[in-house]
Amino acid sequence: MLSLTPSSDSATVSAFAQPRASSSERSPFVFVGERLWLDFVNCEHGLRRFDSLRDFETMVRWLEAASVLDAERGGGIRRRAQQQPAGAAAALVDARRVRGALRSLAERGPMSERIRTEGLAEINRVLGRSAGTRRVDLRGDGTFIRSFVPVGDAFAGLVIPVVESAADALILGELSRVRRCADQRCQRVFYDNTKNGRRRWCDMATCGNRAKAARHREKLRSH
Ligand SMILES: [Zn+2]
Repeated sequence: MLSLTPSSDSATVSAFAQPRASSSERSPFVFVGERLWLDFVNCEHGLRRFDSLRDFETMVRWLEAASVLDAERGGGIRRRAQQQPAGAAAALVDARRVRGALRSLAERGPMSERIRTEGLAEINRVLGRSAGTRRVDLRGDGTFIRSFVPVGDAFAGLVIPVVESAADALILGELSRVRRCADQRCQRVFYDNTKNGRRRWCDMATCGNRAKAARHREKLRSH
């Protein structure tokens, strides 16, 4: 997993930080994909039809909730967005494009070599602009973290951790374990990390529970 943390005056993309759900119970963001890139795909959907890429500020809040940006780095990006609104708007459009490509890769990549090739091209398009420095940082708690310090356009690097996560999925051969929620009304995707590979629902607390309740009602009717 990757995240951005501040390092002097430049951004640092750090690997292996754990994602966390927002502490706010009213947070519209849901993290059930098991992988950053799949959570990014899901940030558009869900039964409430909330789009986390509806504007730049909401995108930054999503990136913070996903631990891609920490609060300090998020603040820096917001200031930059006020100074350069056109750059922020372009970054938002680009993020939506990346999300569309990653949704295709998640939903149809396992079946289609053409989709995999297109997904790969999109991944390399984003990674191609990730000029910067790789380094290892010592954290306050004594642990080490792998970091990437981008140079140049601050906006261009925002979705790099997301795209790195998709690249990891290809490298690790995880695509065949990417599933779409069995509830037709739900468009969430997730990485099936169960032992038997038979996870059906994006989330037991919502879609899984609804299916269970529906089966229960069915049973009552048949008696
Ligand atoms: Zn679902």
